Amino acid sequence: MSSYFGTIKRGAETVLGGLKITIEHFARATRRRDQLSPQDDDYFKQPLGLVTIQYPSEAIPTPPFSRYRLHNDAVDCIACDQCARACPVQCITIKSFKATPDDIEELGTTSDGSKKKLWLEQFDIDMAKCMYCGYCTYPCPTECLTMTPVHDFSEFDRSNFIYHFGAMTKAKAAEKRAKLAKYEEEEKARKAAAPKPAAGAGAARTPLAAKAAAAKAEPAASAEATAAPADAPKPAPKMSPMMAAKLAAKKAESGETTAPEAKSTEGAAPADAPKPAPKLSPMMQKKLAEAEAKRKAEGGESNT
Ligand code: SF4
Ligand code: SF4
Repeated sequence: MSSYFGTIKRGAETVLGGLKITIEHFARATRRRDQLSPQDDDYFKQPLGLVTIQYPSEAIPTPPFSRYRLHNDAVDCIACDQCARACPVQCITIKSFKATPDDIEELGTTSDGSKKKLWLEQFDIDMAKCMYCGYCTYPCPTECLTMTPVHDFSEFDRSNFIYHFGAMTKAKAAEKRAKLAKYEEEEKARKAAAPKPAAGAGAARTPLAAKAAAAKAEPAASAEATAAPADAPKPAPKMSPMMAAKLAAKKAESGETTAPEAKSTEGAAPADAPKPAPKLSPMMQKKLAEAEAKRKAEGGESNT
C-alpha cells in the first residue's frame, strides 16, 4: 500500500518539475531571434529566452560557406566536364559538342575572358542524388558552379529535383550538330584532296613524329659518341698487389722476366722505366724467395 502512494507521489513531483521548467522558460521568452551570423560569438547563446521562430516566414541564417543547393551559371560554363568527373555519385549530366570556327564568336567568352569552344547542350544536376559534398565545385575552372544558401527546396515529385541549367533549345542543338557534321565532312575531304608531302621529308612530320624520331636517334648518337675506336690502345687491366705478386712468382719460376703490366699495356709507360715494386705480404715474399732460390739451384741466373 505504501509503495502505491509512493509511486503517485513521485509522478506528481515529476509533473510539477517539468511544469516548473516550462513556466520559467515561458516567463523568460520575451526576445525574438536576431539575424546573427553563426560566426557571431552570441550565436549559440540565442536559444535562452527566445520565442519560437515562425518558420518559414523566419529562418535561421546559414553559415557563409555552407553546402546547400547547387547552382550553375551556365553563361560561364565551358562544358569542360570536370565537375561531372569529380562527382562521386554521378548526379551531373553534361552533353556538349564542338562549335565550328565561325560559331566561336557566337559562343562568346566567359566573364573572365576565356573563349568558349563547346556548345553546352545539356547540364543537369539531380539534387535528389546529390550528397552535398561539394567536390564538383572545386575543379570548376570558371567558378560558375557554386553551392547556394538555399536549403529548403522540398518537392512532391522527385523529377523536380533534376535541375536543368543548359540553356540551349533542342532545335538549336540539332541545327548546330548538323552544321558541325557538315564541317567535319568538308575538312575530311579537304585533307584527303591535299597533296601528300614526300615521305621522310622534314616538313611532313608532325611535331610529335619529329620528337619521336629525335628520341630514337639520340641513344644511337650517344652510343656512337661513347664507343671507343677499334684501334685505340686498351687500358691495362687493373690487378691487385697479390695477383701481381703471384704472376711475378709464376714468371720467375718459368724464367720470364717481363712484368705482366709491360706485356698487357701497349702504349703505356716504356718497358725500361723503373716500376714501383708491388707491395707484397710476408707470405708472398717468402714464396717469391723460394721460387728464386729454386731457380738459382737449377743453374739459372737471377734477373731481378
Ligand atoms: S555536391 Fe557532391 S554529390 Fe552533389 S553534385 Fe557535387 S560532387 Fe556530386
Ligand atoms: S567544371 Fe565548371 S565549367 Fe566545367 S563543366 Fe562543370 S560547371 Fe562547367
